[in-house]
Amino acid sequence: MPGPGDVLELIRDRGTLTRGDVLELTGLSRMTVSARIDALLDAGLLVEKGTDRVTGGRPSRRLIFNDAHATVVAASVDTTHTSVALTDLAGRILAEDRIDVAVSDGPALTLNAITECTLHLIDRTEGVSHIGGIGISVPGPVDPDTGRPSQPPIMPGWDAYPIPEHLHDALGVPVLVSNDADAAALGEQRRAHPDSRSLCFVKVSSGIGTGIVLGGQVYRGADGGAGDIGHVKIAGHDDVQCQCGAYGCLAAVASGGAIAHALTALGKPATSGSDVGAYLAAGDADTARLTQEAGRVIGEVVATVVSLLNPAEVVLGGRLASAPLLAGVRETLYPRSLPRATRHLTVSQSTLGEHAATVGLTALLIDREYSAAAVNAALGR
Ligand SMILES: [Zn+2]
Repeated sequence: MPGPGDVLELIRDRGTLTRGDVLELTGLSRMTVSARIDALLDAGLLVEKGTDRVTGGRPSRRLIFNDAHATVVAASVDTTHTSVALTDLAGRILAEDRIDVAVSDGPALTLNAITECTLHLIDRTEGVSHIGGIGISVPGPVDPDTGRPSQPPIMPGWDAYPIPEHLHDALGVPVLVSNDADAAALGEQRRAHPDSRSLCFVKVSSGIGTGIVLGGQVYRGADGGAGDIGHVKIAGHDDVQCQCGAYGCLAAVASGGAIAHALTALGKPATSGSDVGAYLAAGDADTARLTQEAGRVIGEVVATVVSLLNPAEVVLGGRLASAPLLAGVRETLYPRSLPRATRHLTVSQSTLGEHAATVGLTALLIDREYSAAAVNAALGR
């Protein structure tokens, strides 16, 4: 029989329901529905609002998920910096900070800096009651069972590092670890494309990765490696070595790192995707040309992805997301894909930018911590 957690899930899914709606949708008895809703109200998981309709002379109040029930922490670790945000359960950012640590600093230093930053943010933000959990994203594959990085190609020292245990020991709250492109994909889908249930987010920064949302859920693959297109081999580039050690990877040919290398050779010093992003923002013509060329190569690989998954949206994000990148991807993606796979496809630039991962991490954490099973267990059923 559906417990209070199932009722909460229904209400979260629909946004808002009345007691009458719950009665109708669950088929439970009036008494059971009352007991479930009272338990959720007592636990502070629901709030009752307004009287927007009157049925049979009685005001009918709307039940809404209490987005102030907890505050969550979302930390995105990148190749050049890390950002930490506090959000409410609706994903609204209450406070955020950016710290000067990155994957190359190794796990212990990075996670300690995140802990310190989190405590500082909690301290200086008003109205933060209890922390419901921390979500952290990293630029590499994550084992879905253990939450540990799984042979990440560009994260030296992080392979199998116990991120969940480290952060749980430090902060004493539930921890969720996600690949960065996965988190950003979910953020884009939930916030910018809520009507599209399937979306591929292609992150082009210092490296290249893809996050896949199918049926409204992140698809991770058996080992957390789904969407790791950065190390697909590109024909004709056997002479270019990738950061992962192999030759001819997409990331070695078309990432921000590769463009930074080409720019440096042209006398324009750059070392990372952030540097390339800065040249793009300044309207540098060489960078625009190289970025469009990179987009063409990326489009070839994404054409295969699109033919395989038939998503409704391809969203380009990361530091290289720009008009030239979008133009390049479109040039090769459409001619190389089956018409059926692209008939309703939209290829666009991220609208959330760096906040995509924050929104996605918050959503992943809330989906897990407030799932029907978790709430039923917490309320002793
Ligand atoms: Zn590689």
